[in-house]
Amino acid sequence: MTTPITDNVTRVHEAVAAACARARRDSADVTVIAVSKQKPVPAVLEAATAGLQHFGESRVEEAQEKIPAVVEAVERNLTWHMIGHVQSRKAKYVPLLFDIVHSVDSEKVAERLSNTVQAMLVEPRKTSLAVLAQVNISGEAAKSGFMAHGWQHNPQMFEALCTRLNAIAKLPGLRLHGLMTIAPLVERAEQARPFFADLAALRESLVSVTGLDLPELSMGMTNDFEVAIEEGATQVRIGRAIFGERAY
Ligand SMILES: *Cc1c(COP(=O)(O)O)cnc(C)c1O
Repeated sequence: MTTPITDNVTRVHEAVAAACARARRDSADVTVIAVSKQKPVPAVLEAATAGLQHFGESRVEEAQEKIPAVVEAVERNLTWHMIGHVQSRKAKYVPLLFDIVHSVDSEKVAERLSNTVQAMLVEPRKTSLAVLAQVNISGEAAKSGFMAHGWQHNPQMFEALCTRLNAIAKLPGLRLHGLMTIAPLVERAEQARPFFADLAALRESLVSVTGLDLPELSMGMTNDFEVAIEEGATQVRIGRAIFGERAY
């Protein structure tokens, strides 16, 4: 039986494969994260049945309801990604619910996550949490993330980024795996390309200066994931192309 979600998953996988082919990349190097925010448990189950393994949520309260319900209904272990801003007072719930946090946008949040993971060491389930540093590459005021707009021409800004990432990488209980960004909302996906290319270049520079290993680039959503893959995304966060439009 195919459902709209199953069909959407097929289409997304085809689009990912085509983008990888254009970029001469192996599609095994691109992870599709199904962003299930505001979508009910049955929709997540459908996507899991269609073969998806990775799911993204952006609010802790919603995840606290949804994740246990999905886990109970699915036989295999799914991988949960926190992609939304982590409020300080909610940070303590995050390591138990999620496998990776894409949205570490301050040292303070990183420290809270680190403290929680350390307090959880008694629980054998989790000894460390994978995190990505969210970077504001476009400079838009409404975007969270470490400011990186214009980093190529701003040595002080680049230096500050190196310092912050080094500090996060040293926190016990966290594994800093890479960078995440959200491109500006644009009319054509092509207009987002420079931002993705900029993040990829920033990653290269950070790796060569700090020696940190930053293998993951989380960039690209429904409107622009194909372009993001062409520019090196290793994780794409796709909501509407899989689950349909969200009602606000
Ligand atoms: C909602 C959201 C997505 C998915 O957006 P779509 O346009 O539905 O693909 C991806 N990343 C983040 C951080 C989000 O908040």
